Amino acid sequence: MLSPRYKPWHLLPFAWKYARLRLARRPVLVTFEVTMRCNAACGFCDYHKTPADEKARELASFVDAARVFDPMMITFSGGEPTLRRDLEEIIAEVSRAVPYCYLTMLTHGGMLSLERAQAVWDAGLDQISMSLDYLDARHDDARGIPGLAAKILAVVPAMRERGMAVRFNTVIKDDNLDDIVPIVRHAHAVGAGVNLSVYTDFKNGSAAHLIRADQHPRVRALVDELLAFKRAHRGVITNSDWYLAQLPRYLSNAMREPCRSGETTIHIDPAGLVRRCPDFPADKPWRDYDGYAPIACNACYYACRGEAQAPLTLSRFKDLLA
Ligand code: SF4
Ligand code: SF4
Repeated sequence: MLSPRYKPWHLLPFAWKYARLRLARRPVLVTFEVTMRCNAACGFCDYHKTPADEKARELASFVDAARVFDPMMITFSGGEPTLRRDLEEIIAEVSRAVPYCYLTMLTHGGMLSLERAQAVWDAGLDQISMSLDYLDARHDDARGIPGLAAKILAVVPAMRERGMAVRFNTVIKDDNLDDIVPIVRHAHAVGAGVNLSVYTDFKNGSAAHLIRADQHPRVRALVDELLAFKRAHRGVITNSDWYLAQLPRYLSNAMREPCRSGETTIHIDPAGLVRRCPDFPADKPWRDYDGYAPIACNACYYACRGEAQAPLTLSRFKDLLA
């Protein structure tokens, strides 16, 4: 586990909770989308077009949903969660209410000063995840935030020095295949983690960064490099070995099994409506959640899809213990 708040013996209550949730067919990971507003300008996501008056629909508190679901892991995401001035109160309330729950936040990092990072950390987070697809100004261009990569690369070592657990969320695209291993190595050097996913055009139809068929051999070589890195340095890359090994199969459109998102992972939108994954419409109040049936959708290979299918293998336990 990345968070210093947890010790190896905490695996026992977490394992007990996992067994209880799976037996009851309840989600293990719940994402609270605390706002849909965002001040980035990514070409592959339209959340930055969310009207400012959507703020009026945002729940002041997510604590009731946290108590009822009582999952193993809660992620605060958006949109951009740090746009909410009351984010610290939202996190602190949930942290107090749900024991043995790993709390994370996903941010683009553009407004994450060391002081703000410390404030959300002190509110009860166990991990802060930052999007990082390139180690240079290409990241600024992709996100529409000048100076973003330099800011992230400067603030993360300072956060690590203060004991905060940090993870990069990195999307594998057509133009960063040679940047993935350097990002992983950089994360290792600064004591951070990396979670990888593959670019798809399902969010807003932008096919600009889809991996091309002629790049598939390069992706297969990349997967081999990542698995070799995992064998040498467990605990840096947080994807399961199984998830990484399936990437070529997904890209070559050979994945036929249904998507099980909405079973072990769900998303709750700013107004308290639940959805099976970030790219499906929210369809009912979270209190009415009664599970989502597997669905024949192949539109993405996010972790909420891929890791939900991953078998519990020895390498997964090694990842956890690392
Ligand atoms: S991908 Fe993230 S940072 Fe980019 S517009 Fe969407 S919510 Fe904002
Ligand atoms: S494959 Fe699953 S997680 Fe991905 S968009 Fe479709 S339903 Fe959502």
